[in-house]
Amino acid sequence: MSLNQSPYILYSDGNGNIFEDTSLYATGRSGWDAVPISEDEWIELPDGGSLYELPGRRGIGIDVATGEMRLCEKGWAVAAFIPPAHTGFYIAAYETAPDAPTLPLFCYTAAGWLNNKFYVPATRIESDIRQECAGFDQKSIQEGAAHLIEHYPHNRLVKHLMNTCALTYHCPAARNFSMGRWECPVPASPACNANCIGCISFQPEDETIVSNQDRLSFKPTVEEIVEFTVPHLETAPYPIISFGQGCEGEPLLMWETIRDSIIEIRKHTQQGSINMNTNGSKPDAVEELCKVGLDSIRVSTNSARREIYTPYYRPNNYAFEDIVESLKVVNRYGGWTSLNYFVFPGMTDAVAEYEALRKLIKETGLNMIQWRNFNIDPDWYLGKIGVVDSGERLGMKQLLSLIKEEFPHLKYGYFNPPKERIAGDFENDFAH
Ligand code: SF4
Repeated sequence: MSLNQSPYILYSDGNGNIFEDTSLYATGRSGWDAVPISEDEWIELPDGGSLYELPGRRGIGIDVATGEMRLCEKGWAVAAFIPPAHTGFYIAAYETAPDAPTLPLFCYTAAGWLNNKFYVPATRIESDIRQECAGFDQKSIQEGAAHLIEHYPHNRLVKHLMNTCALTYHCPAARNFSMGRWECPVPASPACNANCIGCISFQPEDETIVSNQDRLSFKPTVEEIVEFTVPHLETAPYPIISFGQGCEGEPLLMWETIRDSIIEIRKHTQQGSINMNTNGSKPDAVEELCKVGLDSIRVSTNSARREIYTPYYRPNNYAFEDIVESLKVVNRYGGWTSLNYFVFPGMTDAVAEYEALRKLIKETGLNMIQWRNFNIDPDWYLGKIGVVDSGERLGMKQLLSLIKEEFPHLKYGYFNPPKERIAGDFENDFAH
């Protein structure tokens, strides 16, 4: 339902207190530009969302009286972290002071206030509820973690997933594993063959920001992987096991161990899905995994354009074309292919990106796009990849409908779908 007016801009006093300024309507950011947001693009800030104050930054609003754009001088700018399953249409619009600190690796969606509610320009892109914060019960998570550690006393990976991921990082996937449901994470690789600017598991010493989590420090064995994944596949509702997690490097660097694990797993059970989240750098290894039963792949990228991909991923010994080939390989083997598409308004909906995305979908026979908000400081990102002008833009909302119109089979979401959903009524199977 469209609002009858634009929400007002938010600002903070620098002490964590947030206020609305009713002399200014909120705007959004697309690329480097502040732009008005139309009333039908706003939704209430979903449960699980949070608000950030942005030090050293002044929000840009539209003067209620004059219609002119100007800065909110009352305090720091404010942005929203919108919860998983939702895709943002605009970044928060602000002017950055020269000495402002680089922002940590979170997404900074525009936010506003109206009729005692917070609003964000976004859409619910995924009906699956696996990461709804209301669905996580801390007592069950702690009991589940204790049970798993006791049940697998010598398994380093179970200890890592429970003590570090579920109980320290509060990783939704690890928490679902501790609750015996849905997607179970299987990190396997301490190393990576890319050097992403916004890597969430490793940031160089001399960088001004830190990674959100530390990278796995050991190479799990086939036995350690198989020991807990088989029972999960056999007992969990809508079971998936997923190699490639935020707390590791690139799983394809461990493809032999993963291949042998899949072979062993499938000796015990045919239940559930075996998925890999990956940078897609090694299509030959992907083929070996498809031969032994890999069901689905999710390839991450910030862009469907080589010239935008390469300065961000800074790949070692592979190229953009390899990630495209990995999608084609899984498609050839009848597996499910998803793009883990980092959404950056102004770049993702640029006309040049749209054309490149259409080409990639046609070339690879892609099944799904997971439209995931890019967790990165916008100025820092565009500066690092050398973008001074992101060119003509369509608007995220229009981009989503244009792609859907041209590729009606293509699924939209935020999470890896289980076999049951792929085989069933995809849109409605998980609409609770
Ligand atoms: S591919 Fe993943 S692990 Fe590797 S550098 Fe990029 S974000 Fe980090």
